[in-house]
Amino acid sequence: MPSLFDIPLDESVEVLKRVLPLMSKQRVPTIPQNYAIWYDFVTDRNDELSSLLAERIEAGKSFDSQACRTIYERFFLDELHSEVDEIQGAVRGAVESVLAELGSLGEDISHYSEVLGRSSESLQENPTTEELNKLVVELVHETARTKSRSKEVEGSLHGMASELTDLRAQVERLSRDSRTDALTGVANRRAFDEGIKRMMKESNSGNSSLCLLLADIDLFKSFNDTHGHLVGDKVLRFVAQEMEQCVKGRDLLARYGGEEFAILLPNTPLSGARMLAESIRAIIEAQRVSGDDGKELDKVTISIGVCQFRPGEELTSFIERADECLYACKNSGRNMVMSEIEFAEYNAKLRSV
Ligand code: GH3
Ligand code: MG
Ligand code: MG
Repeated sequence: MPSLFDIPLDESVEVLKRVLPLMSKQRVPTIPQNYAIWYDFVTDRNDELSSLLAERIEAGKSFDSQACRTIYERFFLDELHSEVDEIQGAVRGAVESVLAELGSLGEDISHYSEVLGRSSESLQENPTTEELNKLVVELVHETARTKSRSKEVEGSLHGMASELTDLRAQVERLSRDSRTDALTGVANRRAFDEGIKRMMKESNSGNSSLCLLLADIDLFKSFNDTHGHLVGDKVLRFVAQEMEQCVKGRDLLARYGGEEFAILLPNTPLSGARMLAESIRAIIEAQRVSGDDGKELDKVTISIGVCQFRPGEELTSFIERADECLYACKNSGRNMVMSEIEFAEYNAKLRSV
């Protein structure tokens, strides 16, 4: 299959004309990830993806953000894996070629050592001037040959070292990409899942406080409906940027889902986590994002649930407790922060009613 970078402009425009109406009919936002899915569908680049989409269309199933995300992760994150395979192949190739060089150098060196051994024996047998001359000529010749072979191998070792340095940079980029959310540039769900497990382990073994903030943009669906998905995407980037300014050091900010963000705060007490959540909430409420026409849009607000990890607690329970706090914010009017302490009070009040 030719690389997509080699597709001529006219052909890509033709595809665009077929992709956009289809995406619009299925009410799929035209973000790059979704475009990649529908591009492959229209151009039939992947049988499995084509039949999956055809089945969903046939069954009248919606392509909501969750479905699109799942399809994207299934078919496109695999491309990362194939890139990893490619790099692995390149490293293997480089190692094999150097091993072959070293092997042949080994043969040359053992031949050279044989020549040296023979010369040493001949020298002990009082050679004639003629024999001595022949011996010196052979030694000069063999020494020069071995030296030039060593130089060649040195050259390929040098080449291999620089090839490996390039490959290492590629692997680092891949590893970064596979843990970064493409839209907002913050860590993605995969990085969050890895980070939370690691931090829970550290908190258990070091007896240190770990807190989790789960933030969700309020009434974002209607914001998207009013201003369109592209403006919605701009808001997601804005929220991510504002949050990023508020975290530091080993804190981990990640896009947890569609319009949800999570922040992990190691070595932070619940009171500190709650204060941080409150300042993020206030900063976002106070700012305005401008639309395509440059005019300021409606206020964007977020709700945040905050809780502290309990030593030995299961991952799902930790996240569920933060989610419960978040859900309680939504039920209490949104644009607010609720930590597990306020949640307990909120629950007690609910029960007493
Ligand atoms: P609530 O205050 O209860 O959270 O209401 P909500 O409308 O934010 O919640 P709901 O779960 O009903 O809708 C979430 C919306 O987030 C739906 C979807 O359009 C939007 N969304 C999710 N991911 C993206 C995205 O990547 N880009 C854009 N523009 N919108 C997204
Ligand atoms: Mg949500
Ligand atoms: Mg929301």
